Amino acid sequence: MMSKSKSKKKRTKIKIDYSICGEEGKIDPRDCSLCMRSCDPAVFVMHPTLGTEEKQEDPYDPQDWRITPIWGSLCTRCFKCIEACPEKAITISW
Ligand code: SF4
Ligand code: SF4
Repeated sequence: MMSKSKSKKKRTKIKIDYSICGEEGKIDPRDCSLCMRSCDPAVFVMHPTLGTEEKQEDPYDPQDWRITPIWGSLCTRCFKCIEACPEKAITISW
């Protein structure tokens, strides 16, 4: 029987600078999304920014969006997202 060995792989931390891309930045991710399209394991999701609905006139038509690396454990550290981002808004460390 195979013994259960502990994974030595350190957790990957993926950060997006929302002062560049997101509700505070000059980039609306809906106009770009190159990071999402370059990521084979689909680590990222795009969603309306939580807490901003109240500020918006129509809650069913949110205007503030951001990208969150929600499935970080799937990251293969290929760096395709970093290479694809025209604003250098993504950093990855572990
Ligand atoms: S490094 Fe590769 S796998 Fe990881 S989030 Fe970026 S594109 Fe996806
Ligand atoms: S590639 Fe960069 S600028 Fe484009 S949506 Fe992703 S984080 Fe934003």
